[in-house]
Amino acid sequence: MCGIIGIYNHPRAADLAVLGLFAEQHRGQESCGIAVNNSKIIKLRKKIGLVKDVFPEDKISALHGKIAIGHVRYPTRGISAVENSQPHIVETLSGPSYALASNGDILNYKQIRAELEQNGVYFASFNDGELLLKFIVFHVEKNGLSIPEAIKLLMKNVKGAYSTVLSTKTKMYLFRDPLAIRPMCYGKTKDGSYAVASESCALDILYMEWIKEVQAAQIIEIDEDKVSVFSTKETQKNIFTKHCIFEHIYFSRPDSFIFGENVFHVRKKIGKILAQNDDFDPDIVVPVPDSANFIALGYAREKNLPYEMGLIRNHYVGRTFIKPEQTIRDESVYQKFNPLPHFFQDKKVALIDDSIVRGTTLRKIVKLVRHAGAKEIHLRIGSPPVKHSCYYGIDTPTRQELIANEKDSNTICKYLKADSLKYLTIKQLQQAVQDPQNYCYACFNGEYPIK
Ligand code: AMP
Repeated sequence: MCGIIGIYNHPRAADLAVLGLFAEQHRGQESCGIAVNNSKIIKLRKKIGLVKDVFPEDKISALHGKIAIGHVRYPTRGISAVENSQPHIVETLSGPSYALASNGDILNYKQIRAELEQNGVYFASFNDGELLLKFIVFHVEKNGLSIPEAIKLLMKNVKGAYSTVLSTKTKMYLFRDPLAIRPMCYGKTKDGSYAVASESCALDILYMEWIKEVQAAQIIEIDEDKVSVFSTKETQKNIFTKHCIFEHIYFSRPDSFIFGENVFHVRKKIGKILAQNDDFDPDIVVPVPDSANFIALGYAREKNLPYEMGLIRNHYVGRTFIKPEQTIRDESVYQKFNPLPHFFQDKKVALIDDSIVRGTTLRKIVKLVRHAGAKEIHLRIGSPPVKHSCYYGIDTPTRQELIANEKDSNTICKYLKADSLKYLTIKQLQQAVQDPQNYCYACFNGEYPIK
C-alpha cells in the first residue's frame, strides 16, 4: 500500500507535499520521496525512512519549484530498496521531463515490461510506478502521442490498480484505473493552487476550497488555471467500480472521505451491524486501537454498553504488521499495547478488532487482556475472515499465512485463546456501505475483478 500527493502552482510546493505525505504516513512507512519541477530541472529526494526523517527543514528548502509530487511506500512489488521507492523520474535530452507517483499494483507487469524492453526501454527498478512512467514516456517521446493519449493507451493495456499523479515541467496529470480500486481525490485552494492525494485527510490540512474524487478511468490535466477532464471509453462504459473494501475497514484514516463516504461513518456502521447480529451482552466494549475505535464505538452505542479505552497504544511503534520479519512483529505487539487492568478486572469483555490476518496480533492481545484480569474475552471482528491474498496493492501475506485460509472460526478462537469469536459476514459488511456492488471483496471471497 502506498500514498501519493501532488501540488501544482504553489511557490512552496515541496513544503505542502511534505505536509500531505505526513498526513498519509499510515499508508506506507518504508520509504518516501518528493520530486519538484522548477520549470528547468526536476529535483528528486527519496530515501528509506519516515517523512519526518527524510524531509527535515533544510532538505525541503532545497527543493524549489511550483510543482511537487510525492509518495510514501509500503512495498508490494519490488524489495525494500531506495530504487523501488517513488517518485520515478525521466529526463529527456530534448528537454521534457516527467515525474510520476502511483498507488496500486500492476498484474501484467512482466508482460508490459518485456514489451517495453524489446523496444529499448531501460528499467532501473522493479517498481510498478516506474513501469507506468516508462510506458507513458515511451509512447509520447517515441510514438508521438500526447500525454492524455498515452494514458488512454495505458488504460487499455495495463491491468491493475493505479491511482497516479504525473508531472511535467509545466503541467500535472491525475489518472485512476477503470475500476477505481484505490482512493484518490483532488482539490483547489482559494489562491489557485491544486493538490491531489490518495486520501482527503492529506488535503484537509492544505485548506482546499473544494475537494472532489478522481473518477474511474478519468484523466485530468491541470495547466495553469485550466483543468481539462478527459473521459475515456472505459469511463462511459463503466457502470460499476471495484473499490477496495479493506480501505474502509482498516487502511484509510477515519477522517478521510473515500469512495463517496466518510470512513469513520462506515466503521461505526460496521460496529452497529456487528452488535445487531450478536445476542451476547458483555460488561464492557474495548477496541484494539486505533483501527477498531469507530467499529467498537458503533457496537457499544447500538448495545448501549460502556465503551472503554482499555488498551493504550504507543503511537511511536508504527503498524506492527508492516515490520518484515515475524520475530520483530511478535515483540512489537507488546511494545505497542499496554492494558489498563482497572477496566478489565472480572469483566466480560467484547474486544473489537477490524480484521484478523495472520492472527499474530490478537493472540498476544488476548493474553495481555487476560493477564489484566478479564473474566471472559469475546472477540468481535469488523470484517469477514481474510482467506485470499490481495493483488491490487495491499500487502496481504500468502494464502498459507492467512489464518482463516485453513482454520474455521472455532479453531481460530481456540488458537487465539478467546472465549468466543464472531466475524462479520460479507452480506453484513455490504450493509455498511452505500453501494455494495461497487466494491471488491476478493480477500474474503476470492472473486477477483481483474485476472
Ligand atoms: P495479524 O492478524 O496479526 O496478521 O494482524 C492483523 C491486524 O493488522 C489487523 O487487526 C489490522 O489492524 C492490521 N492489518 C490488517 N491488514 C493489514 C495490512 N494489509 N497491512 C498492515 N496492517 C494490516
